[in-house]
Amino acid sequence: MSQPLLEVKNLRKYFKTPKGMLHAVDDVTFTIEKGKTLGVVGESGCGKSTTGRAILRLIEPTAGEVLFEGQDVVKLSAEEMRKKRTDMQIIFQDPFSSLNPRKTISQIIADPLKINKIITDKNEQMDRVRELMETVGLADRLINTYPHELDGGRRQRIGIARALALNPKFIVCDEPVSALDVSQNKMGLTYMFITHDLSVVNHFSDDIAVMYLGKLIEKAPSEELFAHPTHPYTQALLSAIPIPSLDNRRERILLKGEITSPIEPPKACRFANRCPYATDRCRSEEPQLKEISPGHFVSCFLTD
Ligand code: SF4
Repeated sequence: MSQPLLEVKNLRKYFKTPKGMLHAVDDVTFTIEKGKTLGVVGESGCGKSTTGRAILRLIEPTAGEVLFEGQDVVKLSAEEMRKKRTDMQIIFQDPFSSLNPRKTISQIIADPLKINKIITDKNEQMDRVRELMETVGLADRLINTYPHELDGGRRQRIGIARALALNPKFIVCDEPVSALDVSQNKMGLTYMFITHDLSVVNHFSDDIAVMYLGKLIEKAPSEELFAHPTHPYTQALLSAIPIPSLDNRRERILLKGEITSPIEPPKACRFANRCPYATDRCRSEEPQLKEISPGHFVSCFLTD
C-alpha cells in the first residue's frame, strides 16, 4: 500500500440550530493514498460537501484530525493554512461568484501565478495560462473573454485551471462535471470527488466512499463496491443505476420511511427508518465501520 496523502480521523462538524446541534459530519474516518481518486457519494444533506470544506478548513471542523502529508492541518494558524492551500485546492460546481466579473479569463488564471509568485515573467505567465487552458479544454480564442460571456461548463473549467495553476497536490472537486475529463488525465494528483451520482464516479475513482446523514457507511475499491455492495443504502443507490444489458437488469430498491433528523440524532443506525432489514438492535445501538475484506469497510450490523 502506498503512502496516504490525506488521513481524516474522527472528523466532526456540528452546527448550532434553534432545535439543537445539527450533526452534519459525524465521526468520519478515511484515507486517500497519493495519486488516487476517492469518490464520495451520497444524497443531498449527507455531509459530503461539508466534509470537503472541513478538510480544507473553509469551515472549521468541530473535532477530529486532518493529516495532510502527516501534518494535522486543523492545528495550523490562519497564515500557515493560507500557505498550505496552494497544495490543497477545491473546485466548486459553478465558481461564478468567485470569478471577478471585471477580469478576463487570462487575468483570472494568471492571478494565482502572480499572487503566489510562482511565475513572475509576463510572457511566461501567458504561456502557462495557455497551457492550463488547453489542459482543461478551454479554446485559445476565449483568452480575452469575461466570465459572464461563458456558460456554466466553461466557467467550471476556469475554476479548474485556476486551481491547477498553483500546482496543488490534492484537489477536492465538489460536483463539477467538467473536472471529470481533467481528472481522468490525472497528472499525478490526488482527488476527492464529491457527487450525488454514483454512476459518475464509477469510471475514474479508485475507491468510493458512501455517506448517509453525516456518517461514512461504506468504503471500498470501486470494482469491489460495484461487485459486492454490502450496506443496504449502497445497494439501494446501485439499484437506481440503469444497466444497458437486459440480462443483467437489477431490481430497483425503493426506499420508504422517514429520513432521521440530523439534529441531535439518536444513538442508533441512522438508516434504520428506511432500512428493510432493520431490527431492534439497529434502533438502539449505533453500528461502527468495520473492515469486512481488504479495503472494504461497512457500518452495518448485518456484517456481524
Ligand atoms: Fe439496516 Fe440495521 Fe444495517 Fe442499519 S445496521 S443498515 S438498520 S441492517
